[in-house]
Amino acid sequence: MTSQIVVVGSGYAGAGAVKAFEEEVGHGEAELTWISEHDYHLVLHEVHRAIRNPAVEDKITIPVGEIMSDESTFVQGRVVDVDTDERVVETDDGETVDYDYLLLGIGSTTAFFGIEGLKEHAHQLKGLDDAKAIHEDVREAAANATRSDPAHVVVGGAGLSGIQTAGEVAEYRDKHRAPIDITLVEGLDEVFPGNDPQLQGALRQRLEDADVEILTGNFISKAEEDAVYFGGDEDEDPEELPYDVLVWTGGITGQEELDGVEVEKDDRSNRVFAESDFTTSDDRVFAIGDTALVDQGGDDVAPPTAQAAWQAAEVAGENLARAARGAPLQSWEHKDKGTVISVGEEAVAHDVMGMPIKTFGGTPAKLLKKSIAVRWIAKVSSTGRGVSAFGDM
Ligand SMILES: Cc1cc2nc3c(=O)[nH]c(=O)nc-3n(C[C@H](O)[C@H](O)[C@H](O)COP(=O)(O)OP(=O)(O)OC[C@H]3O[C@@H](n4cnc5c(N)ncnc54)[C@H](O)[C@@H]3O)c2cc1C
Repeated sequence: MTSQIVVVGSGYAGAGAVKAFEEEVGHGEAELTWISEHDYHLVLHEVHRAIRNPAVEDKITIPVGEIMSDESTFVQGRVVDVDTDERVVETDDGETVDYDYLLLGIGSTTAFFGIEGLKEHAHQLKGLDDAKAIHEDVREAAANATRSDPAHVVVGGAGLSGIQTAGEVAEYRDKHRAPIDITLVEGLDEVFPGNDPQLQGALRQRLEDADVEILTGNFISKAEEDAVYFGGDEDEDPEELPYDVLVWTGGITGQEELDGVEVEKDDRSNRVFAESDFTTSDDRVFAIGDTALVDQGGDDVAPPTAQAAWQAAEVAGENLARAARGAPLQSWEHKDKGTVISVGEEAVAHDVMGMPIKTFGGTPAKLLKKSIAVRWIAKVSSTGRGVSAFGDM
């Protein structure tokens, strides 16, 4: 009987796996159903561009029909449950899809760490609508501000998302000569925590050049409608930082739809434990991308990056085809190809394979950042679509 393969999610994990599966599977071996809440793939690692210019939407959304073959089926819906005993996936409009093998690639959601008022008052940045809402609020706040009383945008969390968000707001400010002050707040001691000090230094420099104020070593302990607070206990009042627009990018956690799914997960992050061949505690369920903690030997897991999801998807898609035909699965090892981070129109590159200089900015870094997005879009869609995105990345 033909195996039923179901892939959930149309991010790097899902889109990449669908492509790889279709290339690998033999005729009549398996049928693929691809489920996602959106009928497009979002180039999430460039979504911050839509904060500056929402019109970039056309460049960073790729209809699923351009990615998958006619032989596969697409179902639009948000998966709300997976019954691993019956091997059925259920969507929010009650549709059910049976599977023999399932790949979960539903990404992650923002972690608010229980910080009082944060979820209520902060924007998050996990999709196109988030970026557009931030754009609107920044635009409106700037329109109501003056040079002597500028609008204040506070970005919490100085990881990939927070740094690039601050950079886009700065670019918007400069392009529109808007009266905006920007503060990037990080609880740990340096921007881009846990990374190479040279890269951290270069990012700090770019942000400062872009007139972004950086507050490190400051944990946000509470958020209210118009201010965030640091520290504070019974002896000391918390320090207040007023804002007009608050964006929180301080961490990720597994999607809540995974709560009831019977696969082993990390208690703290709600992300699914996966072996290096992407199988989980249920041998019919595979997981990759931000959804999963993919074993990399010892205590290491693959990082939650587009780069890792993209690499993993190529092997995971093949493994789905292999599972369908009863062939042995392949293991995957993440290869760090380096980091390229934008700060508005500028970029910083670090440890990029084949590059003789460890950390660099300027035109080479900018071109690299653009070429990464172009390469991915060309891979999942077409060279023409990739090339047309070049100017906006
Ligand atoms: C602003 C920003 C900048 C970033 N910059 C970089 C960068 O420079 N470099 C880098 O490597 N990484 C970067 N990242 C991280 C990178 O985007 C993620 O690691 C990557 O998107 C993970 O891919 P994924 O496929 O696992 O998840 P996603 O890309 O998030 O895709 C998840 C998919 O699942 C769908 N979905 C979610 N829940 C459900 C459900 N219940 N049912 C059905 N469908 C569902 C979503 O709609 C989406 O299609 C950035 C992230 C952000 C937010």
